[in-house]
Order: sequence, then C-alpha cells, then structure tokens
Amino acid sequence: MAEVVGIVQPQAATAEHPHETTDGFHLVIDALKLNDIDTIFGLVGIPITDLARLAQAEGMRFIGFRHEQNAGNAAAISGYLTQKPGICLTVSAPGFLNGLTALANATTNCFPMILISGSSEREIVDLQQGDYEEMDQLNAAKPYAKAAYRVLHAEDIGIGVARAIRAAVSGRPGGVYLDLPAKLLAQTIDAAKAKKSLVRVVDAAPRQIPAPDSVKRALDLLRSAKRPLILLGKGAAYAQADAPIRDFVEKTGIPYLPMSMAKGLLPDTHPQSASAARSFVLAESDVVVLIGARLNWLLSHGKGKTWGGPKQFIQVDISPTEIDSNVAIAAPVIGDIGSCVSAMLAGIDSGFGKPDATWTGAIEERKTKNLAKMAATLAQNPSPMNFHSALRAIRDVLKARPDINVVNEGANTLDYARSIIDMYEPRKRLDSGTWGIMGIGMGYAIGAAVTSGKPVVAIEGDSAFGFSGMELETICRYDLPVCTVVFNNNGVYRGTDVNPTGGKDVAPTVFVKGARYDKMIEAFGGIGYHATTPEELTQALLKAIQSGKPTLINAVIDEAAGTESGRLTNLNPQSAAMKK
Ligand code: ADP
Repeated sequence: MAEVVGIVQPQAATAEHPHETTDGFHLVIDALKLNDIDTIFGLVGIPITDLARLAQAEGMRFIGFRHEQNAGNAAAISGYLTQKPGICLTVSAPGFLNGLTALANATTNCFPMILISGSSEREIVDLQQGDYEEMDQLNAAKPYAKAAYRVLHAEDIGIGVARAIRAAVSGRPGGVYLDLPAKLLAQTIDAAKAKKSLVRVVDAAPRQIPAPDSVKRALDLLRSAKRPLILLGKGAAYAQADAPIRDFVEKTGIPYLPMSMAKGLLPDTHPQSASAARSFVLAESDVVVLIGARLNWLLSHGKGKTWGGPKQFIQVDISPTEIDSNVAIAAPVIGDIGSCVSAMLAGIDSGFGKPDATWTGAIEERKTKNLAKMAATLAQNPSPMNFHSALRAIRDVLKARPDINVVNEGANTLDYARSIIDMYEPRKRLDSGTWGIMGIGMGYAIGAAVTSGKPVVAIEGDSAFGFSGMELETICRYDLPVCTVVFNNNGVYRGTDVNPTGGKDVAPTVFVKGARYDKMIEAFGGIGYHATTPEELTQALLKAIQSGKPTLINAVIDEAAGTESGRLTNLNPQSAAMKK
C-alpha cells in the first residue's frame, strides 16, 4: 500500500493489535479500482484532499480542476464516451452544489456519472447546529440525480460504490450522487473484513432484448411507409452499436437525420443523410423511426408546423416511460439500442422494399438546392470574418482529421457550427445537448482529451467560453492537446447593443471590445493565436493541432454578426410576444 502523507495509515498487524486494519479512504479507492475505474475528476479540499492524494498514490489518475462544475462536466462526458461512469469528487456544501449542476446536466442528457462529495457530520447537519459547510446534500441531490446514496459505515463502502455504478449505467444512464461523510473516510476496519466487503459489479448494464412482437409491429409499420425517415439521437451514439445502426440505415435505404451529437455515427457525407433537407423530411415523412432520440423541444415535441402532415412513430429506447411522452407512439421497441436494431435488422427480409424514388428523389432535389445556397454563403469572404467564413476555415482543417473531438457551445457559434462542420466518426461531436446549456466547454474538452487520448478542438462562443475559461490553466497543467477557438464578437449574441440611457454601463449583452483571449492561455504557458481572417484562422488551427499543445485562437468575428439567441429566438419572451 502506498504511503500518503497526512492520512490515517492502514495498520499492519502487531502483537498488540493482531489484525491488520484499513480505513474508509482506502476502501473507496479499492472499490473504484476493483470496478476498473481509473480516473477521478475533481477539486480537493476538506474532507476529500487525502482521498485524491491516495487515489493518485494508488495509481489512479486524478485531474484537478478550478471549479467543480467543470470537473463534473468532464466526468459526465467521459461517461458518455466510455459507458463507464465518470467520477467527480468534490468537497462538501458549496463544492457539492457547484458539482450538482453538472450532475443534473448528466442526468438530463442520459450520461453516466457519479458525483462523490464529502459531507459534514450528520448528527450536526440533521439538528442544524451549524457545522462547517453544513448541508443536507443527499436530499439536495435527489431531484437532480437518477439515484442518490449515502454510506455511513466503512463496511458498506463496497456496496455503496457498486450500487452507484449500477444505477449510473444500467437502463437509461444518468447521474448518481454518493455522499461520503468525513467521519466515514476516517473509520478503520479490519482489513480482511474490508476486502470481503468489496463488490465487483457483474454485467453493470445488461443487454435488454426487445420483445419479438414489438419488433414485428415496428417492421410491419415500416413496411407500410411511403415516406419513411430514421432519426438518430445521442442515445444511439452512446450505445456503441455503430455497425448494426449503419447496416440498418443502409439495408433499408431509408433517409436519416442525425441529432447533433449523433452526427458522425454515419459520416455526414453519407448519401442517405437528409440533414441538408431537414425541414422538408420532418414535415413530409409519414413514418419516423426514432433511435435513441427523445421528442423534446429539440424536435418541437413531435408536433406542430415542423412536423407537417400526419405521422406515425416507431421509437427505439431503453426507457419505457419515454414512450408517448409528447405524442402517441404507434410502435415502441423497448430495449438497448444494439439489441433492438439488431433484431429489426434480422427481420428485414428480401421482401423489404427500399423507399420509393419519388421520396428519395424529392429529398435529393432539396438537398442539392440547399447545399448550393449554403456553398454560396460559405464562399463569401467578408471583413471582419462572420460565423460562416470562420467556420468554413475550421471545417476544411477538420475534414482531414476525423479523429479529433469537437466540443461546441454558444448561441450562433453552436447553431452554425452544427450545420457547417461535418463529422465522420461516432461520438466526436460533444455539445450543449439536451438543455442547450452554456458552460460545458472546457470541462468536456478536458474530459474528452483525458479519456480518448485524442486532440480536441473546442469551438466556443465568447460568452459560453467565459463560464469555464479558467480551466485553461488545467489544460496547460496537464499539457492536454486542446485547441480552444473563441468566436469573439464582443458580446453575448452580438457586441453592438448600446445602453439606451446613454449611461456609463455598457448594454447587458456587451463585453470588453477587442478582448484578447489568446493572452489568457499565454499566462499559463500555452500558445495563443490571434486570427482576423479565414487564412489566419486556418494557419493557426493547423499549427495548433500539429503542436499537440494547449492552444487558444482568438477568432475575431464581426460584432454585428449573429442573431439574438441564435436559432432560439422563438424562446425569448419579448420576441415571441412581438411575433403575436
Ligand atoms: P438527442 O438529444 O440526440 O435527440 P436524447 O438525449 O433526447 O437524444 O435521447 C437519448 C435517448 O436514448 C433517451 O431517451 C435514452 O433513454 C435513450 N438511450 C440511452 N442509452 C440507450 C441505450 N443504450 N439503448 C437504448 N436507448 C438508450
């Protein structure tokens, strides 16, 4: 056992104490390691500093952050990429609450993660006697987590960790909270008894085979379709059933649309991709196969103008209660995506005709028209750059590096990048997800770099970047191959608003004009670039990627470019009221 300064050391057996002992600290680490968890993302402080030290001493990787929310986001994305729960470790009350946003975001996105927080003494917390960082963390976590557990006795640590792992990854994945009071960590326990109490989780996310009659119902409906469409969501990407999904799309010949994080499951250049005719296929299709995608706000709740004429849905999902969440689902197929899609594939026989040429032809026509329009917009070279010309430069560089993880957040920066940057490999696009959250940028970038060992390009709106910008220091400290591109248009949405009173304060949406974000990374030893043209941006990105070093490109965008709330203008109460 490694010696760690400052914590209770396990006691070897002596004549006086005939039994070797261990403690809560060691048991937590042993329990995680026993389940092949090798990395912890966190931020140290009372009472978990020694836990982090011990983890490192015992061969785990501890990645220390500057704010717990970013550590939590790193853990969540690592869970998404690996199907193993990402671990985030925080101190009590305020640290826990900072991590809780990430836990809630993970649960909302169906990413498996475990937030482990130290906590103050229950006796004092429950009597509200005013302890250091007093908070009833277990109950605070419950509404935002898939499950929440507290361990009070060292001999229950093995079971507690096992339950947390199983809860995070089985069925619909999500965030789990594990509460570890300071007293528990220091508890000593007989080493032999401790060893026996550890649990290696067997088959943490068992396959869930769909009922054959549900598969038949779905295929019967699909056979009757005149204008079928497949919609792939990030659940499909998470499932790592890439080959059966590709076979299903190609064998049926049905046009498909990827949701943003499902981009790359099949290359965006695939002939059956209907992305460039998105509005058309959503409105005109008659049978839609949802694979790991929810009919939430991102899909206009499955109804209204977006969806046009009457339609029937086949929904493949692991969670039975997702079915009929917004509209009636004609053919639910419940199970894990790999098993469901394989079962559907097996039921596709030679009599299963490819979609009618009038349908695929109409889509092709739309695609050609829309792609030509987009190409014309992308070909323009305004000065200063706008979102399109800057993204064109990035797109062309990334085309040659399909292995790079792309993190993306912002308003306009998110919306435009999603449609302009093509993805070629699965699980390479990591973005604001189900909430449309800002602030995931550096956390996801670090999580993806650490977990995949591959470079990351984080395409960030200047406002979005601000939420996690201090993690540039973390990126430099661990020397991670992350290139952050800040789309700097001097403000939230745009930088052109003025204070109508003529007062000294700038408008609520405006930042410091001409800020040099590239100087920030230089403070920590990283490399900064300042790019004012697509050519400069191209060169900077090429150099940044080639260096494999922490880099930041300050990409100067026209401050008048961009629209309020990006494509979500309809969600702004004022704009919505004005439309009425
Ligand atoms: P998107 O935002 O890309 O549309 P969502 O996050 O809305 O995707 O939907 C993901 C869906 O995938 C969720 O309903 C979730 O239950 C489901 N899901 C996640 N993992 C699996 C899996 N392994 N098998 C089946 N369904 C899954």
